[in-house]
Amino acid sequence: MASDLANKIDPQNDRLKINNYLQVEEYTNIFAVGDIPNKEDKMAYFAGNQAEYVISLIRIIEEKKLHSKQYQASQYPSMLVTVGRKSGVSQLLTEGGFIIGDALAKFLKSKEFMKASTRSMSNYKTQSSDEVHQRNT
Ligand SMILES: Cc1cc2nc3c(=O)[nH]c(=O)nc-3n(C[C@H](O)[C@H](O)[C@H](O)COP(=O)(O)OP(=O)(O)OC[C@H]3O[C@@H](n4cnc5c(N)ncnc54)[C@H](O)[C@@H]3O)c2cc1C
Repeated sequence: MASDLANKIDPQNDRLKINNYLQVEEYTNIFAVGDIPNKEDKMAYFAGNQAEYVISLIRIIEEKKLHSKQYQASQYPSMLVTVGRKSGVSQLLTEGGFIIGDALAKFLKSKEFMKASTRSMSNYKTQSSDEVHQRNT
């Protein structure tokens, strides 16, 4: 199996070749989401969208219903880059990639690297910085 999947790696970017349903080429029972498929930029945000899509698709397949809705990959790149705690730059998910200064990167990311939102996505309890401080002292 591993060597079969190795044949599905796109030599251009070392990522798995998938179809428009996020299934590995020629394997309808293997899905690829996140950084591993060659569909979209490597972004946690896109990985979440892909995971939601695959969950709904598996449900449809399990219920033996017809499915025709292909995954809609985002056409635009987006990125929040922090530079230390007080600076950064953001490119928004829009046509033309609207770029703004450090306000958004600082607000969304610099303080704690989106730990709280990531933890809550995985249903982990979010600790306040006071709790973390107490645990570490
Ligand atoms: C510095 C940096 C900043 C980023 N900033 C953003 C951002 O602002 N916004 C955004 O949307 N995305 C951002 N990303 C991208 C985002 O982190 C990735 O797209 C996302 O984490 C991909 O999720 P994944 O589950 O595919 O892979 P990962 O999160 O890399 O998870 C893969 C997991 O598999 C484990 N693993 C690997 N090999 C094996 C093995 N053989 N056996 C068992 N386990 C294994 C790894 O340890 C890891 O835990 C950033 C990435 C980096 C590096």
